[in-house]
Amino acid sequence: MQLLIATNNAGKVREYQEILQELLPEVKLLTLRDAGIDYEVEETGETFEENAHLKATEYAARSGMTVIADDSGLEVAALGGFPGVKSVRWTGPTAEDRNRELLKLLADTPPEARAARFVCVTVCRAPDGREVVGYGEVGGRIGLEPRGTNGFGYDPLFLLPERGVTMAELPPHEKHAISHRGRAAHAIAPRIAELVQQE
Ligand code: IMP
Repeated sequence: MQLLIATNNAGKVREYQEILQELLPEVKLLTLRDAGIDYEVEETGETFEENAHLKATEYAARSGMTVIADDSGLEVAALGGFPGVKSVRWTGPTAEDRNRELLKLLADTPPEARAARFVCVTVCRAPDGREVVGYGEVGGRIGLEPRGTNGFGYDPLFLLPERGVTMAELPPHEKHAISHRGRAAHAIAPRIAELVQQE
């Protein structure tokens, strides 16, 4: 029983390895590199779901394996949900650049008006087209400066106000217990097990 983690984002690969090892210890996890696939799917969809679906479909077809793919991002309420599906491409090229630019956009927004959420749509798809979709989100607030070195992307800016820490200050297993990605994967773990078993 094997499952291809179909993403080129190193942070996501690591997180799916950690999350799925825990949820589905009997499943062998492969990366795109393991499968010899060096290809980036163009994200032409307008929603997380469309893009996750595009990625899962393309990588399942290229690999002939059951795959898990996600589209995820940060939605900042004061910016009307921006950057959303554009989370990785609105500026850059690095995560540090994006965090710095996000802080500039929010420079005049006081702490209590900096509500944000991470959203994740996870699609597990078999090469024969059977598919299952999981959703997850986590609410928080954009901090005034980056803090912490765990995680990836916007994690150093993503404050969990009730805990007084950023996502990047949490150990990985604590992030996965509450994160958008952990929740999305958890919601569909039994169905992922069915898809990989039936191959
Ligand atoms: P995608 O590859 O189009 O799904 O882009 C996802 C982008 O959203 C990432 O590159 C990050 O910028 C951001 N993002 C998604 N999930 C997380 C997370 O768990 N922590 C921090 N940033 C995230």
